[in-house]
Amino acid sequence: MSFMERLARFFYGRNGMDRLNVGLIVLYLLLGVLTVFFRRNPVLQLLMLLLIALIIFRALSRNLEARQRENARFSAWWERVAPFWKRQVRRLREIKTHRYRKCPHCRVILRLPRKRGTRTVRCPKCGELFKVHIPF
Ligand SMILES: [Zn+2]
Repeated sequence: MSFMERLARFFYGRNGMDRLNVGLIVLYLLLGVLTVFFRRNPVLQLLMLLLIALIIFRALSRNLEARQRENARFSAWWERVAPFWKRQVRRLREIKTHRYRKCPHCRVILRLPRKRGTRTVRCPKCGELFKVHIPF
Protein backbone atom coordinates (compact mmCIF):
# COMPACT_ATOMS: atom_id res chain seq x y z
CA MET A 1 0.00 0.00 0.00
CA SER A 2 1.43 3.40 -0.98
CA PHE A 3 1.87 6.26 1.46
CA MET A 4 -0.97 8.23 -0.13
CA GLU A 5 -3.32 5.25 0.16
CA ARG A 6 -2.37 4.82 3.79
CA LEU A 7 -2.98 8.53 4.38
CA ALA A 8 -6.37 8.38 2.63
CA ARG A 9 -7.33 5.32 4.72
CA PHE A 10 -6.21 7.08 7.92
CA PHE A 11 -8.34 10.16 7.19
CA TYR A 12 -11.37 8.14 6.08
CA GLY A 13 -14.29 9.00 8.38
CA ARG A 14 -12.37 11.87 9.95
CA ASN A 15 -13.05 15.57 9.62
CA GLY A 16 -9.75 16.58 7.94
CA MET A 17 -9.15 20.17 6.91
CA ASP A 18 -12.20 22.38 6.65
CA ARG A 19 -12.68 26.14 6.42
CA LEU A 20 -12.58 26.61 10.20
CA ASN A 21 -9.28 24.74 10.45
CA VAL A 22 -7.78 26.90 7.69
CA GLY A 23 -8.97 29.94 9.68
CA LEU A 24 -7.35 28.55 12.84
CA ILE A 25 -4.07 28.01 10.96
CA VAL A 26 -4.16 31.62 9.73
CA LEU A 27 -4.78 32.72 13.34
CA TYR A 28 -1.83 30.57 14.44
CA LEU A 29 0.42 32.24 11.85
CA LEU A 30 -0.74 35.71 12.98
CA LEU A 31 0.13 34.81 16.58
CA GLY A 32 3.48 33.61 15.24
CA VAL A 33 4.09 37.12 13.88
CA LEU A 34 3.32 38.49 17.38
CA THR A 35 6.11 36.35 18.87
CA VAL A 36 8.54 38.64 17.04
CA PHE A 37 7.43 41.45 19.39
CA PHE A 38 6.62 39.42 22.51
CA ARG A 39 9.42 36.90 22.60
CA ARG A 40 8.98 34.02 25.06
CA ASN A 41 5.66 35.34 26.31
CA PRO A 42 4.18 32.32 28.20
CA VAL A 43 0.54 33.31 27.52
CA LEU A 44 1.21 33.57 23.79
CA GLN A 45 3.09 30.26 23.75
CA LEU A 46 0.28 28.52 25.63
CA LEU A 47 -2.31 30.00 23.28
CA MET A 48 -0.39 28.76 20.22
CA LEU A 49 -0.02 25.30 21.76
CA LEU A 50 -3.77 25.09 22.47
CA LEU A 51 -4.49 26.28 18.94
CA ILE A 52 -2.33 23.52 17.41
CA ALA A 53 -4.02 20.96 19.69
CA LEU A 54 -7.45 22.20 18.57
CA ILE A 55 -6.48 22.05 14.86
CA ILE A 56 -5.19 18.47 15.22
CA PHE A 57 -8.23 17.46 17.30
CA ARG A 58 -10.63 18.86 14.69
CA ALA A 59 -8.74 17.29 11.75
CA LEU A 60 -8.70 13.81 13.35
CA SER A 61 -12.18 13.97 14.90
CA ARG A 62 -14.70 11.30 13.86
CA ASN A 63 -17.63 13.33 15.21
CA LEU A 64 -18.36 14.80 11.78
CA GLU A 65 -21.74 16.22 12.75
CA ALA A 66 -20.33 18.41 15.53
CA ARG A 67 -17.33 19.51 13.43
CA GLN A 68 -19.58 20.43 10.47
CA ARG A 69 -21.81 22.44 12.79
CA GLU A 70 -18.78 24.41 14.05
CA ASN A 71 -17.57 24.90 10.50
CA ALA A 72 -20.98 26.19 9.36
CA ARG A 73 -21.10 28.68 12.25
CA PHE A 74 -17.58 29.89 11.41
CA SER A 75 -18.45 30.21 7.69
CA ALA A 76 -21.56 32.29 8.47
CA TRP A 77 -19.49 34.61 10.67
CA TRP A 78 -16.74 34.88 8.05
CA GLU A 79 -19.24 35.79 5.29
CA ARG A 80 -20.32 38.71 7.48
CA VAL A 81 -16.84 40.10 8.32
CA ALA A 82 -14.91 39.29 5.11
CA PRO A 83 -16.22 42.27 3.03
CA PHE A 84 -14.95 44.72 5.69
CA TRP A 85 -11.43 43.24 5.68
CA LYS A 86 -11.31 42.99 1.89
CA ARG A 87 -12.16 46.72 1.77
CA GLN A 88 -9.34 47.53 4.25
CA VAL A 89 -6.83 45.57 2.16
CA ARG A 90 -7.98 47.43 -0.97
CA ARG A 91 -7.66 50.78 0.83
CA LEU A 92 -4.07 49.99 1.78
CA ARG A 93 -3.22 48.83 -1.74
CA GLU A 94 -4.55 52.07 -3.25
CA ILE A 95 -3.23 54.41 -0.56
CA LYS A 96 -0.92 56.22 -3.00
CA THR A 97 -3.63 57.02 -5.56
CA HIS A 98 -7.06 57.00 -3.88
CA ARG A 99 -8.95 57.84 -0.68
CA TYR A 100 -12.25 56.36 0.50
CA ARG A 101 -14.87 58.66 2.02
CA LYS A 102 -18.43 58.05 3.16
CA CYS A 103 -21.16 60.31 1.74
CA PRO A 104 -22.81 61.97 4.81
CA HIS A 105 -26.20 62.00 3.04
CA CYS A 106 -26.64 58.45 1.77
CA ARG A 107 -23.78 56.61 3.58
CA VAL A 108 -22.36 55.15 0.35
CA ILE A 109 -18.54 54.84 0.32
CA LEU A 110 -16.90 56.79 -2.49
CA ARG A 111 -13.50 56.08 -4.01
CA LEU A 112 -11.90 59.47 -4.67
CA PRO A 113 -8.64 60.34 -6.44
CA ARG A 114 -6.01 61.47 -3.95
CA LYS A 115 -5.94 65.27 -4.23
CA ARG A 116 -4.65 67.02 -1.12
CA GLY A 117 -6.68 69.76 0.55
CA THR A 118 -10.37 70.52 0.98
CA ARG A 119 -12.82 70.40 -1.91
CA THR A 120 -16.51 69.90 -2.61
CA VAL A 121 -17.63 66.62 -4.10
CA ARG A 122 -20.95 65.63 -5.64
CA CYS A 123 -22.06 62.15 -4.63
CA PRO A 124 -22.79 60.15 -7.80
CA LYS A 125 -25.45 58.11 -6.01
CA CYS A 126 -27.65 60.72 -4.29
CA GLY A 127 -26.43 63.88 -6.10
CA GLU A 128 -25.79 65.84 -2.84
CA LEU A 129 -22.71 68.04 -2.37
CA PHE A 130 -20.36 67.59 0.57
CA LYS A 131 -16.91 68.75 1.65
CA VAL A 132 -13.98 66.36 1.55
CA HIS A 133 -10.69 67.00 3.32
CA ILE A 134 -7.66 64.93 2.31
CA PRO A 135 -4.75 65.89 4.59
CA PHE A 136 -2.02 63.87 2.86
ZN1 LIG B 1 -24.64 60.26 -1.35
